Amino acid sequence: MASNATTLPGFARAPHPAPRAADERAAILANPGFGATFTDHMVEIDFDAEHGWHAPRVVPYGPIALDPAAAVLHYAQEIFEGMKAYRLADGGIALFRPRANAARFNASARRLAMPEMPEALFVEAVRQQVLADSDWFPTVEGGSLYLRPFMFASEAFLGVRPSRAYKFMVIASPAGNYFKSGSPAVSLWVSDYTRAAQGGTGAAKCGGNYAASLVPTAEAFARGHDQVLFLDAAEHRWVEELGGMNLFFMFAGGSIVTPPLSGTILPGITRDSLITLAREEGLTVREERYALDQWRADAASGALVETFACGTAAVVTPVGKVADTQGEFVIGSGGPGQLTQKLRQRLVEIQRCEGPDTHGWVERIA
Ligand SMILES: *Cc1c(COP(=O)(O)O)cnc(C)c1O
Repeated sequence: MASNATTLPGFARAPHPAPRAADERAAILANPGFGATFTDHMVEIDFDAEHGWHAPRVVPYGPIALDPAAAVLHYAQEIFEGMKAYRLADGGIALFRPRANAARFNASARRLAMPEMPEALFVEAVRQQVLADSDWFPTVEGGSLYLRPFMFASEAFLGVRPSRAYKFMVIASPAGNYFKSGSPAVSLWVSDYTRAAQGGTGAAKCGGNYAASLVPTAEAFARGHDQVLFLDAAEHRWVEELGGMNLFFMFAGGSIVTPPLSGTILPGITRDSLITLAREEGLTVREERYALDQWRADAASGALVETFACGTAAVVTPVGKVADTQGEFVIGSGGPGQLTQKLRQRLVEIQRCEGPDTHGWVERIA
């Protein structure tokens, strides 16, 4: 970090003239929820063809002025990341695999015809944001500071071509434990809608993918389920992922399957980390396609014992039940499984520096 920081442009700082009152902040931090409150500051960096990335700054959190013709408002040229900072037992602060987020951000940028950002600048922007609001860590067990770096097309122009100007920002939101320990198993609705087709934007973390998932998600909620599950677009047969989480299937005997990164699913950093941790536990992990019918049959026969979904926000979420128009089936006991709990615990321990970080995933920033 330190060596990178010296080669980076300095961030201008404009401290908030009237930060949130301490008692109000304390009340939020004792009961943060998710994504509902934001900290006192935000990071902004501008891009245009002439200057490249320029004018990095930490400024008071607040509304931004945008030309009504800004390209993002019309053609959805926007990408984002989701990551967390953790307050450690010794008072320090750590990020988890931030350069993986930076690399994925650039992969998303390429797909959306947006400029890439030097990885060191991305990580430094996140670091600046966390350090500016380091008194915003939740005081609840399992809490973290959720970070949302994003970039959008800001040029005022209605022609259909890539924008020539962009804004990159980072905002932060104190986050509670998405699910309290012993996470409840969720119920999934298998959607008739598809999330991504070959050649589309499924592997990019762009707002447009989420816009398209809102109706299917609302349908899952209306039918009494917690999350929507998407199958592949071509055959409507292969399990892909949830609206914002990847899936793992665990079989009696200790093997694990997760859908491959075929271009239509989002390459989750939690997914990648859990593949590594599961292999270290001596489990066989195969990245291969898994059909809904096979899943149903394996759950019925007992060959499949657990299923979980994973992502930064909720970490690891057990799947208890799956339903589609043909009916529903239960996974294992319908509650959180042992292997799911074990993998979740190993990951959380590394993220909080409570277990050995043998892969150098943790980056201490304070
Ligand atoms: C962000 C995201 C994930 C999870 O990625 P992580 O890096 O593990 O947080 C999974 N699926 C979709 C569609 C996503 O947007």
